[in-house]
Amino acid sequence: MMLTTNPFDDDKLHEECAIFGIRGTKDAAAHTVLGLHAQQHRGQEATGIVSTDGDEFKVHRAMGHVGDVFGKPQVMETLEGIAAIGHNRYSTTGESGLRNVQPIYADFEFGGLALAHNGNLTNALQLRKELVHRGSIFQSTTDTEVIVHLLATSRGPVTERLITALRLVEGAYSLVLLTKRKLIGVRDPRGVRPLVLGKLGDAYIFASESVALDIIGAEKVRDVEPGEMITIDENGINSQFPFNRQEKRFCIFEYVYFARPDSVLENKSVYEARKRIGEELARENPVEADVVVPIPDSGVPSAVGYAQESGIPFEYGIIRNHYVGRTFIEPTDEIRHLGVKLKHNANRHYIEGKRVILVDDSIVRGTTSRKIVEMVREAGATEVHMRITSPPTAHSCYYGVDTPERQSLLAAQHNIKEMCKLIGADSLGFVSIDGLYRAMGEANRDKEHPQYCDACFTGDYPIENVDANSGDSAKLTLLREQVR
Ligand code: AMP
Repeated sequence: MMLTTNPFDDDKLHEECAIFGIRGTKDAAAHTVLGLHAQQHRGQEATGIVSTDGDEFKVHRAMGHVGDVFGKPQVMETLEGIAAIGHNRYSTTGESGLRNVQPIYADFEFGGLALAHNGNLTNALQLRKELVHRGSIFQSTTDTEVIVHLLATSRGPVTERLITALRLVEGAYSLVLLTKRKLIGVRDPRGVRPLVLGKLGDAYIFASESVALDIIGAEKVRDVEPGEMITIDENGINSQFPFNRQEKRFCIFEYVYFARPDSVLENKSVYEARKRIGEELARENPVEADVVVPIPDSGVPSAVGYAQESGIPFEYGIIRNHYVGRTFIEPTDEIRHLGVKLKHNANRHYIEGKRVILVDDSIVRGTTSRKIVEMVREAGATEVHMRITSPPTAHSCYYGVDTPERQSLLAAQHNIKEMCKLIGADSLGFVSIDGLYRAMGEANRDKEHPQYCDACFTGDYPIENVDANSGDSAKLTLLREQVR
């Protein structure tokens, strides 16, 4: 296990993840395994579950996929209990290792508590420095651990402490927390990352995506609202809005890429959204061609939309090997390059002698596009036209999607013509930001009050990246005042 000697030098504390929580069934951990398995696409590096029988806590965390870690009866036997929470951790280019695997568990004055987080806090380093100065000893390099220390230094019952702690943090968070008696789900005031509430018999469930409810046969009750904190205990369900109301800014990239197509987020089908983006893309970027080919998997529904709108036949001209993780999982550039070849193969018969439209969701560093264009040309395509179902990714995400620093983003360094040349395509077209919003059912993007967080495309960041700016923030001052 590699440890960073000085976590303050590590600016890579962000995570994109899946969370799940359930209370009110004797098979809580088994349900959690299934819920995490359905959300494996949100994080494949590590996974963990904490369960409780109302008396003791049981913890199992490990590197690896859900099926590998929890597919062993001897592990599941140790996780009995009527409530559990779980987490899938996404690989980032930052430090990985067991000490960063969630859920985090800690013992407090009020008893034990486990916590799992999806998102990224933008003032975690600033708060951490202050907490360390005051004597906190951190166990991990995750931003999430800051919440644990803020809970420890707050006063009152757990829900009050949580409100105090979360008023001090800035950023994107969907959280599930577990105590002996309570399961708590919270979403940040902007609602950047998803969180749904479900029900199965007497049990309540929280999950990042609705597919985690489908797999266990639970019904979706509703999305947890931005800024909402829901507590589930023996008295039933209680909802509070303890934070200042803010404009909702759900991450539009969840629809473009991150979520599973069979998920419904914020009452919108991800598949439907992707298909409609493909239609917009076809209207905005038409080209004469013989076949529309998705780069699987995320490009598939959009390619269906593109093909239907353009009248050009759809074919699976590229086949994906499902036993390789997402390209980004690979830790180095060299392996990332290899990853694309490991993952995709040209279906030559449908490519040879054809003018091909390739549909993918995004160009980040350009690695995937370049490799695939080359592969399709090698398979005999006469023309290759790349179509992308998002606007150019020109800005980093500070809210939990693992985009690289700006200088590594192809669109931050080059215009579309240059990008086209770099990836070796005959033409390159992106959906416009308004086209993307139209596909989401909006008339256009409201410039004053954008309906979504689209910072990776527009640079319009709804939440300050406190840790990137020097100087003390208002929340740091608040923390200092609280200890006086
Ligand atoms: P790149 O190869 O660097 O241009 O990255 C683009 C490819 O990575 C696309 O095929 C996407 O499907 C995928 N992708 C985009 N964003 C992410 C992300 N945040 N995490 C993992 N994969 C991504």
